[in-house]
Amino acid sequence: LISRKNKSQDTVVQVGPLAVGGGTPIIISGPCSVETEAQMEAVASHLQGEGIALLRGGAYKPRTSPYDFQGLGKEGLRILSETAKRHQMVCVSEIVTPEDVEMACEYLDVIQIGARNMQNFELLKAAGSVRKPILLKRGLAATIEELLYAAEYIASRGNDQIILCERGIRTYEKATRNTLDISAVPILKQESHLPVVVDISHSTGRKDIMFPIAKAALAVGADGLIIETHNEPAVALSDAKQQLDLDQFSTLLNQLRQSGFLP
Ligand code: PEP
Ligand code: MN
Repeated sequence: LISRKNKSQDTVVQVGPLAVGGGTPIIISGPCSVETEAQMEAVASHLQGEGIALLRGGAYKPRTSPYDFQGLGKEGLRILSETAKRHQMVCVSEIVTPEDVEMACEYLDVIQIGARNMQNFELLKAAGSVRKPILLKRGLAATIEELLYAAEYIASRGNDQIILCERGIRTYEKATRNTLDISAVPILKQESHLPVVVDISHSTGRKDIMFPIAKAALAVGADGLIIETHNEPAVALSDAKQQLDLDQFSTLLNQLRQSGFLP
């Protein structure tokens, strides 16, 4: 169903006023985790000022250590959703269990399936049975083919509103948190009609190469970027090292606009 062979035109995933895959690259931004109302307000008001329409923020956090911040759960979804509405934005957040998918539809405009759950098949089936766009991230050690099959699981249950995300894969290289597989973008777009976005934060894990990596992603045809932003990254409860502060985010956007990579 998601194969280019079955449909030659690109799928455009409509998220409120935002067309993902419609030709103009979109930006998904916001903190790694929803922490407080004040934090979300600070980030969202800045992003709205920059014309960003899609707000992110994790509420169910799949952390490596059980002792790390696990997210605010449903309360996090509520804060994210209300903040987005106040700023005429739409929102996306990760859900980790099939049982939560329907509940999440009340809060979210896009449901994210994270890298660690790309092959959680019951979650994929649950995501396929609702009418909400799904942001599906590539697994840490998943092949491009496995990502496409994971998307097919969702589509096979009737939901074809899927955005694919390249977010880096595990390799021996330690200079970046993951290794961004840039060739995955044109391959995914060739194999499938679904839109593809690149997460430049989780793929690199570092802030100092955001501009060249963003340019690379857009140059190979990405339909959008995910960029983690925080009002005070130094004290963020997760991914403190990679989140851009609000000024750094604005600088990056200006660089991308001035170089013609963003309108
Ligand atoms: C995220 O986007 O919040 C996240 C946890 O990313 P990933 O699943 O790609 O690690
Ligand atoms: Mn993160």
